[in-house]
Amino acid sequence: MDAIVKNFPSHTDVDGRPSQKEAEDAVRVLLRWAGDDPQREGLIDTPTRVVKAYKELFSGYDLAAEDVLGRTFEEVAGFDDIVLVKDIPFHSHCEHHMLPVVGHAHVAYLPEGRVLGLSKIARVVDIFGRRLQTQETMTAQIASAINETLRPRGVAVMIEAEHMCMAMRGVLKQGSTTLTTTFTGAFKTDAAEQARFMSMVRGFR
Ligand SMILES: [Zn+2]
Repeated sequence: MDAIVKNFPSHTDVDGRPSQKEAEDAVRVLLRWAGDDPQREGLIDTPTRVVKAYKELFSGYDLAAEDVLGRTFEEVAGFDDIVLVKDIPFHSHCEHHMLPVVGHAHVAYLPEGRVLGLSKIARVVDIFGRRLQTQETMTAQIASAINETLRPRGVAVMIEAEHMCMAMRGVLKQGSTTLTTTFTGAFKTDAAEQARFMSMVRGFR
C-alpha cells in the first residue's frame, strides 16, 4: 500500500519538464493530427488554453497528500466510531486515453483517538484525481495516504465513476459506472464494519 503512494511520481520527481512553448507546440501537432488547422482564427489561442487547463487538471502532481493531511491531528477523547465523508465529487483522467473520469468518492475511517479535518479528505481525493489514473490505483492511493498519515483503526474507500473512454469511444457504453473499493485495518478484517460502511454509503441518500 505504502509503495503505491510513494512510487507515484509527483512532478518534482520528474526531470526535464518541457517548457510551455514545447507543450503548446505539442497541442498544435495534435490539432493537425485531428485534421484541423491550428492557424485558423478559432484555434489560434487554443494551445495556450489547453496548456493552462492541463496545469489545473493535472495539478495533483505538484502536491503531496502528506502536505494536505499534515502530521498533527486533532485529538478526540471517547469518539471511536466511523467517520464517513460520502459523495465527494471528483474528476480525473484515465492514464490509458487521457479522457475524463467523473464520479464520487466515499471515504471512511475508524479513529484511533485522532481525527482529520473533514475538508482534508476531500482535498486528498482531489490531489489523486488531478493526475493520470486508473480508478483502482486512485482508490488504493486515497486509502493508503490516510492510513499512513493518520494511522486509524481502518480506512474504507469506495469510488463510483464513469469513464469517458468507455462512453465516447471503444465500447460506447454510456452511463455505466465502475465501482472500486479498498479496505484497510478493521474494515478489512471485520466483515461487520465493512457491512456498516456499505450500508452507510448506500443508506439515507
Ligand atoms: Zn481510458
